Amino acid sequence: MTISQLISKLKPSATLAITSRVKQLKSDGIDVIGFGAGEPDFDTPDYIKFAAIESLKSGFTKYTPTSGIIELKEAICEKLWKENGISYTPQQVMVSCGAKQAIYNCILTLCNEGDEVLIPSPYWLSYPEQVTLARATPVFIETCDKNDFKVVRDDIERNLTNKTKILIINSPCNPTGTVYTKEELCEISHFAINAGLYIISDEIYEKIIYDDVKHSSPASFGEEFFEKVITINGFSKAYSMTGWRLGYAACSSNIIKAATMLQDHTTSGPNSFTQKAAVVALNAGGSTAEMVSEFDKRRQYIVERLNNIDGISCMLPKGAFYAFPNVSDLFGRKIADQNATNSFELANLILNRAKVAFVPGECFGSKSHVRISYATSMENIKEGMNRLEKLLVA
Ligand SMILES: *Cc1c(COP(=O)(O)O)cnc(C)c1O
Repeated sequence: MTISQLISKLKPSATLAITSRVKQLKSDGIDVIGFGAGEPDFDTPDYIKFAAIESLKSGFTKYTPTSGIIELKEAICEKLWKENGISYTPQQVMVSCGAKQAIYNCILTLCNEGDEVLIPSPYWLSYPEQVTLARATPVFIETCDKNDFKVVRDDIERNLTNKTKILIINSPCNPTGTVYTKEELCEISHFAINAGLYIISDEIYEKIIYDDVKHSSPASFGEEFFEKVITINGFSKAYSMTGWRLGYAACSSNIIKAATMLQDHTTSGPNSFTQKAAVVALNAGGSTAEMVSEFDKRRQYIVERLNNIDGISCMLPKGAFYAFPNVSDLFGRKIADQNATNSFELANLILNRAKVAFVPGECFGSKSHVRISYATSMENIKEGMNRLEKLLVA
């Protein structure tokens, strides 16, 4: 068997390994509480489903323009103007099969072989693999709990070379829940742009944000930012539409044109009736407040329970729906006659002994943390925390 050198470089997903182990345990009749979910546990709102059904009934089932139907691109431009303060035209928007594809197309469109892409770590696990697929090199900028997992200007400067092409910013962040303030974002994006870099700003969690924190978009900071920032967003997280596969990129039209050509030859346009439903999602002005307030209750609860356990310390996340506690004080400690030396071993131990599934931080570039998704019922969260406490405090 000959798998290409390029594909052989990809890392197998440890998230999938955990997920399949959980499935196996469940099918063996074992009651496992899963905290791995990377998607809201709420259903897609009915008004969006109805729009898709209507569109299907009306026969809107053919290929669409590769970069998306014009009504949707117009609705996206209006959204970006009203909510993010960025003025784009439909020629500056490409709709793709999920934000994931939008990011990939842009990375592939911008990077030459050997270019470097700066990725603040911990990171969303597809960024480095996508960079590898573009034959470019991921360069990680380490961050830590102490600094709220934020990169600052000096961190970027230290990692610059003459090959650096892109800085990826993901605020609110998966997995850490970190949200940059406008001032912080302004400082790092200003520096990046002056250094000649492009910025990919992945804003998929913009609406899942807590307390008095405000989301800001680097492309809105001024003319020079507009030219160099690629704003990424989508429908998966804000509208609970992960399975519908719809996201978009907005940036200068020459990048969009090239990225659309790539999309022409790979997937063509995204699903037709999903696009019609997305127009309704954007134009109906439906609120995410209810979902966010439910996430907020779970967030407060789970972080408090985690911090009550000796050996675990967890920041209160400001956005997204993940807790990302530091568990390194538990390494080497005797737990149910075993011990773990990194988060991968610890997650395995907790899964085997307490039947609770977390995602090891290794998947996101940190051996000291685990990711715990609270996109699951309060009942599951309570039971999961009870089990964890029983295992660790016993
Ligand atoms: C979920 C997620 C995406 C991708 O979402 P799509 O379903 O492809 O639209 C992109 N970035 C981050 C950080 C995510 O968590």
